[in-house]
Amino acid sequence: MKKKAPVTKNQEFEATVVDLTYDGNGVVKYDDFPIFVTNAVPGEKIIVGVTKVTSNYGFGRVVKRLSESPDRNADIDAKVLQSGVAPLAHLTYPAQLKHKQKQVADVFNKQHVAVDVAPTIGMENPWGYRNKAQIPVREINGELTTGFYRRGSHRLQPMEDFYIQDPKIDEAIVVIRDILRKYHVAAYDEVNHKGVVRTIMVRRGYYSHQMMVVLVTRAKRLPAAEYIVNDIREALPEVVSIIQNVNQEKTNVIMGDQNKVLWGQKAIKDTLLGKTFAIGPNSFYQVNPAMTEVLYQTATEKAELKPTDVVIDAYSGIGTISLTIADHVKSVLGVEVVPEAVDDAKRNADINGTDNVRFELGKAEDKMVQWADEGLKPDVIFLDPPRKGLTQELIDAAVKMAPEKVVYISCNPATLARDVALFEAQGYRVNGDVQPIDQFPQTTHVESVTVLTK
Ligand code: SAH
Repeated sequence: MKKKAPVTKNQEFEATVVDLTYDGNGVVKYDDFPIFVTNAVPGEKIIVGVTKVTSNYGFGRVVKRLSESPDRNADIDAKVLQSGVAPLAHLTYPAQLKHKQKQVADVFNKQHVAVDVAPTIGMENPWGYRNKAQIPVREINGELTTGFYRRGSHRLQPMEDFYIQDPKIDEAIVVIRDILRKYHVAAYDEVNHKGVVRTIMVRRGYYSHQMMVVLVTRAKRLPAAEYIVNDIREALPEVVSIIQNVNQEKTNVIMGDQNKVLWGQKAIKDTLLGKTFAIGPNSFYQVNPAMTEVLYQTATEKAELKPTDVVIDAYSGIGTISLTIADHVKSVLGVEVVPEAVDDAKRNADINGTDNVRFELGKAEDKMVQWADEGLKPDVIFLDPPRKGLTQELIDAAVKMAPEKVVYISCNPATLARDVALFEAQGYRVNGDVQPIDQFPQTTHVESVTVLTK
């Protein structure tokens, strides 16, 4: 029998916000029917206006706020909230950190895995932290424009201040936009798959201040490339690398796989915990360098590494974890699926004069099974997978290798809790607290470190 919703669109009623969803919406209930309300904080009394109803839940907006939670960031500029780049910015920073801790605890509860979740480690200044921007370029009113897509929308919102990005990167984006305008370069037209520049990517070294500019183009040819390069170099002296990345596909994937160095180096350098890293345009590199140091330090301390340890670093990227732990252990073996990242990782081992690390190209799922079959017996396995988490095969292979410890660095609590439950089913237990670390202040993303022992 199809349930009938107890509310209708445009209905208004008074309610108290009872919860906050993982994506930062307040929850109110009408009878038992949940309605998700943007910019509503638990404890607040509001008048809700229903904007949409499905058979199991609805959406609403705040028509009037009747009381204000102490967790509300009352100082926040309305522009920040409307921008969509900072979906948790209506909460004070301490409330954001508590929210992230609770979210991790909630997903473990759902999996019936008993753990203690430590308070989230936060940043001193939780703004302007991102070292990388990928900004869509579209035409608005006949002009090449840079901005931001709100979630679920495909209309570009022009924007110059991105709040959570390194302000030097925000400045650079505007400068590059103006240079592209000057030479009448066509912005990408998604509907007709025409135009030239799709995305401007900028990365800036946190310590080195070296800047890389990547112009992602639909067309193979970038008109006026020489002039554009000269103007960028003149206006932005931190730039050491200008790259054209060609992406001819009709796709939401930002980068293509062809890179042309238009000027300068093919990678920038930066440091993390005293090690130097070359970072190419296609390689993953953590976006919040200050907190990445905290993350790696926390993971290293929790792992209680010994000089005799043989370590696997699965999902190794450009080798940042491998190289920061290499001095504390006997050897590290990394695996990573992006060929350019593996090249960067090998180069990074050379740059740092580290000779007890090795990187292999492949899928972690396959390599781990292969290594288990070959009888490899690591003492510690680091796992740092993308949001979708691990596969059963990878977990089986990890268990077969019988490491004393598994250090799981997660950017998605839901898949973390699911995977930890699978490890527990095979005799591993969470050792100590699960430690959330706020890599992404003002946003809904949650990073954490968990150590499992046999
Ligand atoms: N440990 C690194 C990278 C973590 S991000 C760091 O802290 O910087 C996750 C990495 O996993 C990315 O580099 C991504 O390219 C890689 N990756 C994604 N799927 C993979 C797979 N199936 N096998 C191996 N690596 C994969």
